Formats: sequence, structure tokens, C-alpha cells
Amino acid sequence: MSGWLLGHAAMIRFILVGGVLVALLLAQRLWPRRGEVSTRWRRARNISMSLIAAGVIYLVLPLTAVSFAAAVEERQIGLFNFVRWPYPVELVAGIVALDLAIYWQHRWMHRVPWLWRLHRVHHSDIQFEVTLGLRFHPLEIILSLLYKFLVIALLGAAPLTVLAYEVLLAVFSLFSHADIALPGGWDRRLRLLVITPDWHRVHHSVHREETDSNYGNFLSLWDRCFGSRIEQPRDGHRPMLIGLDSFRDEALQTLPALLMNPVARERDPTVR
Ligand SMILES: [Zn+2]
Repeated sequence: MSGWLLGHAAMIRFILVGGVLVALLLAQRLWPRRGEVSTRWRRARNISMSLIAAGVIYLVLPLTAVSFAAAVEERQIGLFNFVRWPYPVELVAGIVALDLAIYWQHRWMHRVPWLWRLHRVHHSDIQFEVTLGLRFHPLEIILSLLYKFLVIALLGAAPLTVLAYEVLLAVFSLFSHADIALPGGWDRRLRLLVITPDWHRVHHSVHREETDSNYGNFLSLWDRCFGSRIEQPRDGHRPMLIGLDSFRDEALQTLPALLMNPVARERDPTVR
């Protein structure tokens, strides 16, 4: 079973992510939280950014995180290859450890000026809607993959663990950016454990102290542990402005402008 899963890792990820994207696009129409109306071609641009990133990675890196984990397993290096826990325990511990690593990667993306230049392409979107979860600069995706390789090697994370986390991360990237209103008290309940759209929307606020908060990608635990949690946006979910002041013009939102954004000037870089 695990052999089949690993042999079809790329296809499984593609089908799951595609299916969740379509389901969330539909859910946004049926149960909108803010009723974001996309500007012309915006969704196509965001989806194109993810296709360009996938193409660039295919051309420059011959490895995926799962195939890298298989090479690590073959060489029997990393923590989990020494401790020999039962696999279900290792799976949960591996997912938690990988999520912690990605939380810190996200914090560094905001803290280190040249990393912020790559990551701000994601933050420059002026709408908060599911396709934003696909909009990352290809260089950020490459750096993130190299960082994941390092973490996988240190942990000795098994290929199946890495596949499970990759799928979770991709699904939560879509879910946490969706413009959907969760029914009843579900946002309050879910956010005790995982990132919800209302939780993550705060991270896309134009207000700097809110942008530099809620860095979690899957578990909300890390923002609670490391003091980076803001529960609600100060302007309220419906009126709040999304994006970055320097990149609001439509001319700065074209596909070429997004790809060149890391070398553009930000109006108020201040201490970032
Ligand atoms: Zn961010």
C-alpha cells in the first residue's frame, strides 16, 4: 500500500489539491465570508504562478521532498532512523516536527529583508481568496524545498510521512486562504488545533503588526507557543484591507510584475 502511495505521490497530490481547489471555489460561492470579487484575470494569474513554480522546479531540481526522503531512508540517517518508534508515533511526531520547521521558515521570510522580497509576492495580493494559497514566487518555492530537504535529513522523516505532510500543507494552504464562512462556532473550535481562514486572514492585513503575526501553516500551536498570535483583526473581518500599501495598483499585479516584484522598491520597507 505505502509502495503504491509513494509511486504515485505526484499524481495523488495533484488530484487532491485540484479537488480541494474546486470544492473550495464552490464553497466560496455558496458561503462567502467577505464576498471577495476577483479583479480581472486575478485568479488566472495566481494559478499561473503555481504552474510556473512547478515548471521551474521540474527544470532545476531533479528531486521532490518525497524522493529526497526515500534517499535519506536508504542511507539510514536522521533522528527517526535511530530511535525506531512504532510508525504511527513516528508519523505524528514527523508531521508535528515538519510543521514547526515550516512555521520558523515563515517567520524568517518576514524577518530577513531579502527573504521578505520573495515572500511579499504572496502578501501583495489585495484579495483574500482560495487561489492566494497558490501564489508564491518560484524562488521562494525553491528555497522552501531546499530547507525542507535539510529538515528531512535531520529528522530522517520517512517518505510516507513527508508525503502526508506535503498533502496536508497544500490542502491547508488552500483552506486557510479561502473566503468561506465556517458554520456556527466551527472556526473557534477548529482554531484550537489548526489554522482557519479567519485566523490566517489576519496575517494578510495591511497593518504591519498583523502581517507579522499568525505564521502557522497547519497547526495553530506554534503561534500560541512563540507569542505570534493575534486572534482577530483590529478593523474586523469584513472591513479590513488585504495586501501591501506599496503594491495595490493593478499595473503591479500583472504576471510579469509579480515575477519581478522581488527587485521592485517597496514604499515603506522600514525595519523589515
Ligand atoms: Zn507571510
